Amino acid sequence: MVKPGIIYHKNTRGIEGFFTEEEMAKSGILKTPFCHAIHYGTSVFEGIRAIPDKNTKELYIMTFDKHINRFMNSMEYLVLTKPKDMGKVAEDLKFSHLDEMLRRGIKIEKPNPETLKFLNMTEEGISYAIMENIRRNIRAGSYKAEDGCYIRPIAYRDDKFDEEGNHGPSLGVFSLNHDVVFEIESFYWGSYVDTPKTAVYPEGVDTPLRHVKAGANYGFGGRTKNWAKINGFDEAILTDTAQERNVLEGSGENIFVFTKYGEILTPHMSQSILPGTKRNLVIQIAKNLGMKVTERKIPLEEFFDAGAAAFSGTATGFEPISCVYDPKTNKFKVFNLKCPQMQELVEEYKNLLTGDKVHEVNEELQRESRTKVAIY
Ligand code: PMP
Repeated sequence: MVKPGIIYHKNTRGIEGFFTEEEMAKSGILKTPFCHAIHYGTSVFEGIRAIPDKNTKELYIMTFDKHINRFMNSMEYLVLTKPKDMGKVAEDLKFSHLDEMLRRGIKIEKPNPETLKFLNMTEEGISYAIMENIRRNIRAGSYKAEDGCYIRPIAYRDDKFDEEGNHGPSLGVFSLNHDVVFEIESFYWGSYVDTPKTAVYPEGVDTPLRHVKAGANYGFGGRTKNWAKINGFDEAILTDTAQERNVLEGSGENIFVFTKYGEILTPHMSQSILPGTKRNLVIQIAKNLGMKVTERKIPLEEFFDAGAAAFSGTATGFEPISCVYDPKTNKFKVFNLKCPQMQELVEEYKNLLTGDKVHEVNEELQRESRTKVAIY
């Protein structure tokens, strides 16, 4: 077994620092059975990779600012951090019946703001904690810089603790008076899926939560992944609930389609998909290379008609899909792994990430997508 590394932990009870698992146990960083996130999915996270440069072997975090940005948005969406517009919410929603309710003797009582708990986070603070977590783990020998690492920041609603440190049971769905935890783990993680065989999950999904990197999404997403694996496939393709079953994404990846007419398609951001950091990167790389990428709905039938398809994601990379099966229609399709447009993109994507030579048009994008981890 790989030994667990050093974990950064910060909570709204005033504990903050870098700990081994044993130190966490000793410091009273208690995991209780009443952790809100376990029951109600009140967690958000990020999946980040640091990749060694092919030549210098120095470690670079990919699309760092995009991850931090998405993490801040996810925390705000689940109200783990103080919403910027908390005071404005009622106004914005125009609760115009409030006066009428008061006239009828129904009193509206808002929770006492003093009892609400929020994580106090800044982008700089998160970035520093991630960098320091990597440095400490490398120093402690959890993994080697030249192998690269996967970084998992997570924030969640914990149990409800009082001043003396006593906790729950507290199982109401309302979570804003529960403590909040922010943690970072980093570890070595090889490739996630290799030229995956995919199957289309029979039930569609449509929810605004899929725009957020929330733990709760992986209830459904995890079900589709397990369903695919149980049936001998590597990954599930998710569709929406429309009759055309528009393709959305994989359980942990965004998706790109290469049509027989030389078009590159990817679902539109307004659909129920995660705004992938690598989706964005692939679109920019392709556009710089003079390829046209159209963001629009892709009916399942059109997906089956495509020449090639690929997944994008931090854990996955930009990875061609080998085939797709749809149990609902019993249709099966083998994609062309040699599609020249896709191959060019796969090559450029890999070179961009590993600091290798890219086309001149992508040199600036390469520079701005990589943040060096200073090891000292
Ligand atoms: N969709 C889902 C559901 C995911 O879990 C992921 C992985 N984070 C992605 C898309 C790809 O996102 P990213 O490119 O930021 O890794």
